[in-house]
Amino acid sequence: MHRVVVTGGAGFIGSFLCEALLEKGADVICLDNFFTGSKENILHLLDNRHFELVRHDIINPILLEVDRIYHFACPASPIHYQYNPVKTTKTSVMGTINMLGLAKRVKAKILLASTSEVYGDPQIHPQTEDYWGNVNPIGLRSCYDEGKRVAETLMMDYYRQNSVKIKIVRIFNTYGPRMAPNDGRVVSNFIMQALQGQDLTIYGDGSQTRSFCYVSDLVQGVMKMMDTDNFIGPVNLGNPGEFTIRELAEKVIELTGSSAKIVSRPLPADDPVKRKPDITLARQQLEWEPAVQLEAGLKKTIAYFDDLLTSGKLLADPRWRKMQ
Ligand code: NAD
Ligand code: UDP
Repeated sequence: MHRVVVTGGAGFIGSFLCEALLEKGADVICLDNFFTGSKENILHLLDNRHFELVRHDIINPILLEVDRIYHFACPASPIHYQYNPVKTTKTSVMGTINMLGLAKRVKAKILLASTSEVYGDPQIHPQTEDYWGNVNPIGLRSCYDEGKRVAETLMMDYYRQNSVKIKIVRIFNTYGPRMAPNDGRVVSNFIMQALQGQDLTIYGDGSQTRSFCYVSDLVQGVMKMMDTDNFIGPVNLGNPGEFTIRELAEKVIELTGSSAKIVSRPLPADDPVKRKPDITLARQQLEWEPAVQLEAGLKKTIAYFDDLLTSGKLLADPRWRKMQ
């Protein structure tokens, strides 16, 4: 049985990962500082004796005895990672050094949740892992993009210098229940807006594209990656279905039956024009590919946000209160 730590385990993806690992029989320690994560996400795991929650900020070192580290702690939505950009960079750099130090000391395997953002505004399409990216080093997104790029560098150098057993996954836009309702990401924004009869805010003309992966698919890919022996990645994990943001808005309006309208807002700086993963490597090395198509995943996500809104749970959610 594996003894596992999940950093950022109270977040959106991290909470599903903790759940899936427990189902596989692991002992799971969840480390989180609750910046964007929430106890609500893992409330149902708290009475499982194989689950332990530790409030901890990963910019500080921690001593644990584990054999696997899933390193997911980092704010992921532009609003959240730009709220305190210096802290975002510290989380990626110091947090990753601390987790690599831990991996080195206890000889654990460590998997980094990197991102498609390392490709920046990509000049090749779809993106393959050998593409070095087109990233602005001094822009508003840099704290996140460059932070993750340094995190990848650190992973590779601990591997080359100290033989730490590393794994790097580059995650493309992932969505599903437990996204924070106020995180400003496109899927949560559109669904919240549609359910409340508010205008759906398209940034720019809506012709930019993204590829949306449902969270359960992503978690399966992450776990398969951890189980590999000699494959270190980086490997893209995402759903290669590509949609314009306008198509997404129209789909959300259709599926919610909302009478909301679509309006345009200014496009944020450095917003990538298109993004789509080439997942050939994941197919070959992990025998993985996503199974949940956009419409099915959106229906589940809509049901989650609908429940939040109609049950009053939203008002009890500290993340939502912070926003009011
Ligand atoms: P999230 O914001 O829901 O989760 C991040 C978690 O990390 C939260 O629980 C937060 O409280 C915690 N955290 C942040 N800083 C911390 C710190 N200094 N110490 C301890 N905990 C800290 O975001 P998510 O969408 O679940 O993303 C999880 C990971 O996956 C991130 O590393 C992100 O970069 C990566 N990722 C996500 C996506 C996506 O589309 N969701 C895409 C690419 C990469
Ligand atoms: N976006 C949008 N309306 C919103 C939120 C986001 O049009 O209310 C756009 C955003 O400009 C980007 C895309 O949707 O082009 C995806 O944004 P998100 O923040 O979800 O992820 P990322 O840009 O990091 O891929």
